Amino acid sequence: MRSTPLHPVARLPEEWSVSLAARGERSFTAKQVFQWIHRRGVLDPAAMTNLPARLREHLAAEGLGEVLTPERVHRSEDGTRKLLLRLRDGATIETVLLPSVSGPGSHAQLDADAAAADDEDDDAAAEADAAPRVRVTQCISTQVGCAMGCGFCASGVAGLKRHLGAEEIAGQVLLGRAMLEEGEELRNVVYMGMGEPLHNYEATARSLRLLTHPEGINLSTRRVTVSTSGLVPEIARLGADFGGQIALAISLHAADDETRSALMPINRKHPLDELLAALRAYPLPRRRRITIEYTLVAGQNDDPAEARRLAKLLRGLPVKINLIPMNPIEASSLGPPAQERVAAFQEVLTQAGYSCFVRRRRGDDVSAACGQLVLLGAKPKVRRALG
Ligand code: SAH
Ligand code: SF4
Repeated sequence: MRSTPLHPVARLPEEWSVSLAARGERSFTAKQVFQWIHRRGVLDPAAMTNLPARLREHLAAEGLGEVLTPERVHRSEDGTRKLLLRLRDGATIETVLLPSVSGPGSHAQLDADAAAADDEDDDAAAEADAAPRVRVTQCISTQVGCAMGCGFCASGVAGLKRHLGAEEIAGQVLLGRAMLEEGEELRNVVYMGMGEPLHNYEATARSLRLLTHPEGINLSTRRVTVSTSGLVPEIARLGADFGGQIALAISLHAADDETRSALMPINRKHPLDELLAALRAYPLPRRRRITIEYTLVAGQNDDPAEARRLAKLLRGLPVKINLIPMNPIEASSLGPPAQERVAAFQEVLTQAGYSCFVRRRRGDDVSAACGQLVLLGAKPKVRRALG
């Protein structure tokens, strides 16, 4: 539970209703305040022109104002923008805007991948006649650093500095949306930046409610993906709290406990049989699939025999698999396998009937150290084979 009062940016309309009614404000002001913040992205009470002056003063006194300051924007040649954001206590986090890559076929595929949704292609067909928009996926952080200690990950090596508040998680999207360029549309949000979202469950869940609220940014739940290293009790909680509507991505990275525990310490607490049971129990809507992320680390988890074990392990689960050749990080000598090895691993899974993508890295030229933030993009094997 939070010991500090809820930041104004983290409050839902029903919470504004209670606090503003207690101050004698009229009932519709709660919705107005929420809309100013989350629909219009205005965090300065002085600019909330349709509110009475005494209410604007009250909001300012409550601390309503910017929660994040953009410190730097790195722009990659492929259009990826990585934002370094400073928090009020001086810590920094990163968020990335990933515009969909143009070109025949790639558009819908990238979006589908990012959102872990299966019905995107239908949408794409329905929207084909509309004015062309560049769909942007935003990758957001939930913690400063991470406590999970995965050896291939820059955040894991750094360790946990602190959790983010819901206002800081949702605030990244408010900023990202404000930085969209002509013709761009924020389409998907993926919780794949710094930190383990389910280790910061309360703030993550609240941020999901904020981002998907119809009076606010109004993202569709199926276009929001939470990625987790496998915190079993919280997977169940997320499923129950959101009725399975939030898209789920699982960082699996191995198909046997020994290999997985060596890469991901969390596996000692929640081994594979427990994790797989949690995935089977997730109340996934029909036609939707769980995304399995598999970071390929040379000499660790890239053997074709491991791919066969993976095929067996996932049998019967509605999944699609993203293979991610490890992005080298400074603090580790681990690295990605050779391309042929990646292809061989993919071949085993494709042959076993899985839809399996190799995600290439985007924004390499701005990537600095944070591997997970610069990943996106996929090509299904069949498409590559067809040229
Ligand atoms: N903590 C969550 C979400 C953030 S990490 C999780 O682990 O799922 C998002 C993804 O990036 C994870 O699949 C993670 O394993 C992957 N990742 C982290 N560091 C990486 C690296 N150096 N190269 C490739 N993938 C990496
Ligand atoms: Fe944390 Fe995810 Fe990195 Fe593991 S991969 S250390 S869980 S951010």
